[in-house]
Amino acid sequence: MTASCKTCGGLFDWAVTVDGNMMPVDRDTAGKPGGNLAVTRVTDRGDGHSELRCRVLGDGEQPGPAEKVAWPHWAVCSNPPKRKRDRQ
Ligand SMILES: [Zn+2]
Repeated sequence: MTASCKTCGGLFDWAVTVDGNMMPVDRDTAGKPGGNLAVTRVTDRGDGHSELRCRVLGDGEQPGPAEKVAWPHWAVCSNPPKRKRDRQ
């Protein structure tokens, strides 16, 4: 499931975390070293649909052979939404 960021227009894919939450996985930086996500494409989750899954890597942990390192979009967004506590 691909979506685009409301503020920067960048593309990301929604992935399901191990907790069942949705994580925006950035497309442009997929595979770029340093990301803290390990992403797996499940081609058939049992009902004929494919799904993207991800887990957060620990400190120094490497992704497995079937996993790809990736970044959450909010970590690389070029125009992240302003937070109330941020000062101009
Ligand atoms: Zn963005």
